[in-house]
Amino acid sequence: MIQIKSQREIGLMREAGRILDATRQMLKTHIRPGISTDQLDQLAEKHITQLGASPSFKGYHGFPASICTSVNEVVVHGIPSKKKILKEGDIITLDFGVNYKGYHADSATTFPVGVIKEDIKTLLEITEQALYVGLRMAMPGNHVSDISHAIESFVKPYGYGIVEEFTGHGIGKDLHEEPFVPNFGQPGQGPVLKPGMTFCIEPMINLGTKHVEVLSDHWTTVTADRKPSAHFEHMIVITETGYDILTTLTKE
Ligand code: MG
Ligand code: MG
Repeated sequence: MIQIKSQREIGLMREAGRILDATRQMLKTHIRPGISTDQLDQLAEKHITQLGASPSFKGYHGFPASICTSVNEVVVHGIPSKKKILKEGDIITLDFGVNYKGYHADSATTFPVGVIKEDIKTLLEITEQALYVGLRMAMPGNHVSDISHAIESFVKPYGYGIVEEFTGHGIGKDLHEEPFVPNFGQPGQGPVLKPGMTFCIEPMINLGTKHVEVLSDHWTTVTADRKPSAHFEHMIVITETGYDILTTLTKE
């Protein structure tokens, strides 16, 4: 069952999303060569807590930190560490959740660290565009897989690997609710979108192969060929006419 959220619930999720984006903007100013991913995690936790919320990921299935910090070939679930120091030319995905009064927001962005290679810059641009291409299909009457299909069709010509093991998802009182929203597939499948449904749409796109591996820490997921991976995610609510992004401070 996909839950339809009330206006009150959507309001709480919007507030969670605003706290998340404010935290992301703050973290962005700290991304530079020499900072550790552990420092970013500490800054995030402090900021989220100060704004009256809590980090959704901390302790979720035993995850040991407040944010996922996925550098270069890490696709998702990178664990912050004092030993992981960012260097010029890296990319880092900050993926995290905020719990505000029992409702979650979840969003991810891949940032460059200083100047990055041209082909990696293009990967980031195309992955971010893929998110918005998918979102354009988010409207009442469309099917969940119309979003999936739009993302796949847009990304395919670039020859990138579309990660299949992780998908977008419903969200609300739980961080992951029904349905799954894959980043590939045939159109016209799955549930029909209705106003008040809340989803995270999150293409994860690899420069090389689509295949991934989980490292021995049971969290860190890397590309099988160790080429870089990008990830952009927003949480949205389906409206009467389309969608509204909840994980942004800027009004569209
Ligand atoms: Mg998510
Ligand atoms: Mg996320």
